[in-house]
Formats: sequence, structure tokens, C-alpha cells
Amino acid sequence: MQGTMLYGPRDIRLEDRPEPKITKPTDAILRLSATCICGSDLWSYRGIQSIAQPTPMGHEYCGIVEEVGKEVNNIKPGQFVVGSFATSDNTCVICRDGYQSSCVQREFMSTAQAPFLRVPSADGTLVATNDLPPKGFLPSLLATSDVLGTGWFAADAANVKPGKTVLVVGDGAVGLLGVLSAKQMGAERIIVMSRHPSRQKLARKFGATDIVTERGDEGVARIKELTKGIGADSVLECVGTQESMMQAIQSTRPGGYLSYVGVPHGVELNGEQLFFAHVHLHGGPAPVRRYLPELIQLVLNEKINPGKVFDLTLPIDQVAEGYRAMDERRAIKTLLRP
Ligand SMILES: [Zn+2]
Ligand SMILES: [Zn+2]
Repeated sequence: MQGTMLYGPRDIRLEDRPEPKITKPTDAILRLSATCICGSDLWSYRGIQSIAQPTPMGHEYCGIVEEVGKEVNNIKPGQFVVGSFATSDNTCVICRDGYQSSCVQREFMSTAQAPFLRVPSADGTLVATNDLPPKGFLPSLLATSDVLGTGWFAADAANVKPGKTVLVVGDGAVGLLGVLSAKQMGAERIIVMSRHPSRQKLARKFGATDIVTERGDEGVARIKELTKGIGADSVLECVGTQESMMQAIQSTRPGGYLSYVGVPHGVELNGEQLFFAHVHLHGGPAPVRRYLPELIQLVLNEKINPGKVFDLTLPIDQVAEGYRAMDERRAIKTLLRP
């Protein structure tokens, strides 16, 4: 089969790869219906995060089960399934507490930009739908695999509740779906920091009430102006840079909640500043598996349409163009048809 490999900065190739096989009795093999490129793939694509050798890419997926190992009991061939970027047994103490992305058996998925995929701990990782979903649902179901699950965790970890004022820092796919999640959870006011007209438009569709284009101290001042001088109740940090994290901490009101779901790159926190900020901090790799059953149901019941973040769809043999378009910000997120 043809799978996606990163060779170095901006060098993406589709090349012959061995078809995945069952290697452990708890594995499943999927024939993917859709896969995509993640904002986090751009860190290594841009060379900000270096790679030691050519690396297979992709961790967001949904598809049809082809084959399962001997110890897989719940997942059956022929089912349509969605899984997270982190595998989980869904039985250990950490999983039962809702933190499946830190499962004792966790493996990070990394070969999903391809037609077939091996998923370890299939019973705990994958969630099956009752019926095969119509094709039109594929983008939104794929979104639950990571971007929506991550945006949803960001809103949940930031304690978004009915009537709250929410700030989303970051207008990438995760930030935009953080807006959608906050809206679903009943937020009254949702402020987004964004400088890109197409992203602002989508943010408004998902429920944003205010857009702030300023950054740094000016950005913080603007947020304070919009929140009676005190800051937002809930702040979702969806980028992972020093600038965005500082922006988020300074924009949270004392006693408020700040979640951080962007993989940090060079973020360093000042202890004294944190001490006097007086905020609840909670974040990390989103435990998408915790939310998957609920999110899949919201999609199938047409309550939400997170698939709108895919503004470019390409056949997988044009994967290199998919990366370029996201790198150059011509696309928010690229869906790949295997
Ligand atoms: Zn991702
Ligand atoms: Zn576990």
C-alpha cells in the first residue's frame, strides 16, 4: 500500500509501505474511510520538531474493521469505528478515571495517513457505530477522532458551563472546535482571538460572539475591556507557544479556569506570575476516548457539524499538497481520501 512519510522539513512523500498485519491478539486492522492532516503534524513538517529518520505520519482516522486479533471481543469485522490518536485499554485505573490518553498501555498512533491501519488495544480504543454511517457524515465523524475531541476536552477542562464567558486562544481547527464545544456546553459569550477572515467566519458559525485581533499586551487589554476588567471565566489555550500561553494566563480572571491542549513548544511558566494569577490550570493530551461515544452520537443526530473545519479534501496521492496548503494557511485542515 501507499503510506505517507516525512523525510525532513517540507519533504512529504507517499511511498510503498508494508500492509499492516495483526501483531498482537488485541489488535484490529482498519480499512480507512477518511484520514487527515493535523495541525500538530506541522511542527515536524516545518522542522521545528526534528525527526531522526523518515517517519510515517497520521493519527486521526475512522474506517471499517477488516480483521481483529484473537483477544478482541467487542469490535467486529465490518463495523464502522472511530478511535483516538492515543490507544487505551479503557480498563486500567487511569482510563476508568477518564484519562485514556495516559493509559498504562498507551501507544501513540502514527501511520494513519494510509489506506490501512493497525490499531492496538482495539477493544478499548475503538468506538463502533450501530450502522454504517452515510458518506456525508464522514468528515464530522473523522473530526471526533482528534480535533473535536481535543476542543471538547479544552472546553470541559476549562469548566465551561451555561452562562459563562469563554475565551479561545488560537483559531486553528482545535480552537474553532473549542468554540463549537463551548457553545454546546451553554457558554453565553465566546471570544476568539483570530486574525484570519476565513477562520473568523467559521468561528462565528460555530458560536463565537466576539473576535479579538490584537495580541500580546494589547490583546490582554482588549479581553479585559470585554470582561468588565477582570478576564474570562474559562480560557482555552489551543496553540502551545509561549505567547499564546501568556496571553491565556493573563486573560483568565482570578478563580477562573484555563485549559491548555496545544502541544507546548518552548513554553516556560513563571512561578510568581502563576501564583498571583490565581487560576485553575488543567490540560494535556486530550483523553478523546472519554468523549467519543457522546460526540459520535451528537454528529449522527445532526446536533453538530464539526466536519466544517475541513476546507480542503484531497485524494491521498496529493498528500504533499495537503501539507503545503496548511503550512501556507491556505487551508484550515485537509481531509485525505485513502
Ligand atoms: Zn491530531
Ligand atoms: Zn488504560
